[in-house]
Amino acid sequence: MPIISKSKNPSHLHLSVRLRMLSRNLWFTWNPEACRLFKELSPFVWQRSNHNAAAVMNEISDRELEARLRDHNFSKRVHAVLENFESYMSEKSTWSKRHAAALKDPVAYFSAEFGLHESLPIYSGGLGILSGDHTKSASDLGIPFIGIGLFYRQGYFQQKLNADGWQEEFYPANIPDNLPLELVLQPEGGRLLNSIEIGHSTVYFQTWAVQVGRVTLFLLDTNLPENDQHFQNLTSTVYGGNIDTRIGQESILGIGGVRLLQSLKILPSVYHMNEGHSAFLVLELLNQELKSGKTREEAEQVVRSKCVFTTHTPVPAGHDRFNSELMSYTFGKFWNSTGLTHEDMMSYGRINPADTNEQFTMTVLAIKMSRASNGVSELHGHVSREMWKSIFPGKTVDEVPIGYITNGIHTPSWATAYAHSFWNRRLGSDWTDKLMEPKFWKKIANDELATDEELWALRYNLRRSLVEYARRRHAEHQSCQAEASYASSNILSPDALTIGFARRFATYKRAPLIFRHLEKTIPLLADAQRPVQIIFAGKAHPRDNEGKRFIQNIIEITRHSQLTGKVVFLENYDIKVARYLISGVDVWLNNPRRPLEASGTSGMKVTIHGGLNLSIMDGWWREAYNEENGWKIGDDSNDADLETQDERDFGSLVQLITESVVPEFYDRDGQDIPRKWLKRVRNAMQTLISQFSTDRMVGEYVQKYYLKKDN
Ligand SMILES: *Cc1c(COP(=O)(O)O)cnc(C)c1O
Repeated sequence: MPIISKSKNPSHLHLSVRLRMLSRNLWFTWNPEACRLFKELSPFVWQRSNHNAAAVMNEISDRELEARLRDHNFSKRVHAVLENFESYMSEKSTWSKRHAAALKDPVAYFSAEFGLHESLPIYSGGLGILSGDHTKSASDLGIPFIGIGLFYRQGYFQQKLNADGWQEEFYPANIPDNLPLELVLQPEGGRLLNSIEIGHSTVYFQTWAVQVGRVTLFLLDTNLPENDQHFQNLTSTVYGGNIDTRIGQESILGIGGVRLLQSLKILPSVYHMNEGHSAFLVLELLNQELKSGKTREEAEQVVRSKCVFTTHTPVPAGHDRFNSELMSYTFGKFWNSTGLTHEDMMSYGRINPADTNEQFTMTVLAIKMSRASNGVSELHGHVSREMWKSIFPGKTVDEVPIGYITNGIHTPSWATAYAHSFWNRRLGSDWTDKLMEPKFWKKIANDELATDEELWALRYNLRRSLVEYARRRHAEHQSCQAEASYASSNILSPDALTIGFARRFATYKRAPLIFRHLEKTIPLLADAQRPVQIIFAGKAHPRDNEGKRFIQNIIEITRHSQLTGKVVFLENYDIKVARYLISGVDVWLNNPRRPLEASGTSGMKVTIHGGLNLSIMDGWWREAYNEENGWKIGDDSNDADLETQDERDFGSLVQLITESVVPEFYDRDGQDIPRKWLKRVRNAMQTLISQFSTDRMVGEYVQKYYLKKDN
């Protein structure tokens, strides 16, 4: 890409220049040694900026940096990290070269949110985390890959709870100068400007480039003086505003994204729509083919041969829909030039093209105009085929062309620094390159590689970090609210069985389920010999009052006299809070209303830290559970009646904790080691780490969808 200057071999450059380059590539975020360098340069800025290396480097003068680099030990470590980084960037023998050489032109991956790191808050939840992890694995595997998203000036909200336990939302500004963003310029200099039409207005956008290892992610941004005020704010918040904002953002993402790639002379081999938000890209591609003189059938065929689509939403109401008037207003001018009618356009987004009352559904557009579509777990694939079968009259459910690829996580990003060094010593520091080799992970069965004593020490260490973090947060909260009556050092215990529950507070995830019959839960938690504690975190969507009531519910329970210090809620769930939680807990609890969890990924993050899953048989866990690597709540079915389902799942949950989880955790031998528990942990590590990594997942996307033209 000529636009972004990338020096081929930077090793001749001065150390400080190379270090500044490193701070502007998110590779540092999954390399703890690199994080440590920036943290040491300024612990204060590192902390205050939520671990933002670019902010640290901005605040350090060249003179200070020179002085710090004259410290021999420090500069030796800087050298080692830079060599590691630079050899990663120039690596020739990648997985992609070996297994996907036919994939030459880049995959263009479109997503409304990217959760890459806590310092770049342009994500809201699981979908964004998945896009971020997908992008990082694409980099690790060396796949030609470009990400397209939006730059949200205010990102997603920060959560504060008031004295009543009610969620309040704050939107701090994302300042580009303080983030690892490069403004994309024209070859002849000056900012690259592109535009789309919305109604009769022209809306301009500029583009920021973020380096994610070897991958470039482009973020589109309408905050420009060239635009009317309301278009300047179009891309300001993640899923913010009203339906006009939504269709506007999605136009920028889909149509703008295609135009951006063309203005950069990038010809993608495939357009991957990650969820329906970006599906308007199809209209832009169709528009261009039609204008070039193709017939409608020819144009559709060309477009379909270039697009693949991943759906994530197992409930009909969760899919974006726009009515005919809004579509006509927004795209009238744009679509007129194709020579097709408004009803022709609407037909692409309708299950039944002849039904003029039917709204335009983004998912329908994407499914109709992609060469391949998929859900994100086996069960979700099935649910999606059922949900969209009427797009394909005459086909049985099983014939509906929607497959599945189960989600994964980018393990090097989720492993804490402590877990990295633990496994570096035992598996070799290249364990991060072995995530596609299930055999490699069988090694963990060998208790000479890591003894039970060492694994248990790992658990202690990580649990203590979480408990101390929660106490710090609690103390900060107390000092500004003077509200809780007990000392922070009395909350939680580093010895107690620790359960974690953290995710968006969408009501189907049923955060308060475990408290459904409090009289049954209290004795479980309050047992003095075998204590159990639960840590919660999560944000409710700003307009989801029911979700906010769930949070308030949990807060009330944290104040219950018999549960003081045993149930804790951590405010402002984000990637950093998640990392503390998924590494510190012994058990990750997931109790969504089946089958509404398309995949779920947070439970996958605990395994490398020796955590275990206790989960409904939904999404990924249905494929992962083998009786020895964790626990299943309920069974592989669901009752149509919600009350019945809740009651049954609560019963199963409490029974499991009472009869299996607690006894196994506290069943210690003479060395105070829970042997049986650790056997489960080893089994989980052997069966889950490789299978549920995004390296495996992206590899599957390459083989099944990116390379194959005819599905
Ligand atoms: C992993 C993660 C998620 C995804 O959670 P699920 O409920 O498992 O889909 C959401 N938010 C954050 C911050 C995460 O780290």
